[in-house]
Amino acid sequence: MIIILLGPPGAGKGTQCERLIERYKIVQLSTGDMLRAAVAAGTELGIQAKSVMDAGELVSDDLVVGIIADRIEEPDCANGFILDGFPRTVAQAEALDAMLAKKGLKLDHVISIEVDESALFARIEQRAAETGGARSDDNAETLKKRLVVYHEQTAPIIPYYRNKGALKVVDGMQEIEAVSKDLYAILD
Ligand code: AMP
Repeated sequence: MIIILLGPPGAGKGTQCERLIERYKIVQLSTGDMLRAAVAAGTELGIQAKSVMDAGELVSDDLVVGIIADRIEEPDCANGFILDGFPRTVAQAEALDAMLAKKGLKLDHVISIEVDESALFARIEQRAAETGGARSDDNAETLKKRLVVYHEQTAPIIPYYRNKGALKVVDGMQEIEAVSKDLYAILD
């Protein structure tokens, strides 16, 4: 099963992914986590990505497309995967389509977690408190920028998938458990 979870920063994609990978025995591919791992490891890629991420901007399409293209070749992806934070631009969505077509794979579900954006500031503040500020982009100022980038560059992928008849929506303002139940109802 191949799933894309869409939604603005703080929508709960990561939290829901943790539950879905457990239930469906598939892997989570979070480009944000992979980039943070590269930053922590101090690789050339990490050094390049850090300033872009701290500014709330997107790293280049080529870079993340390359990361995902390599990652889906790994044996643990054979059973399926959930893309979390990718694609984030229409160009990435097109590159993903081409990548999957080449491997004879198809997307099973594209699910958008919809939230009231005024709630996201409190959520990100809470995540920063719970993780001891582990993410340097979890602050109100960077979140504002991330939301602008989300609207300008990422939101256009929602009509892209809707036009293909592939989009489903869940209400991300519910309790975590209720959001999971809605996801299971789509995926079971
Ligand atoms: P996330 O953990 O998904 O919120 O991603 C954190 C940051 O990593 C984003 O604000 C971007 O700077 C970068 N990033 C993650 N995924 C992508 C992507 N698919 N395309 C471009 N930049 C990304």
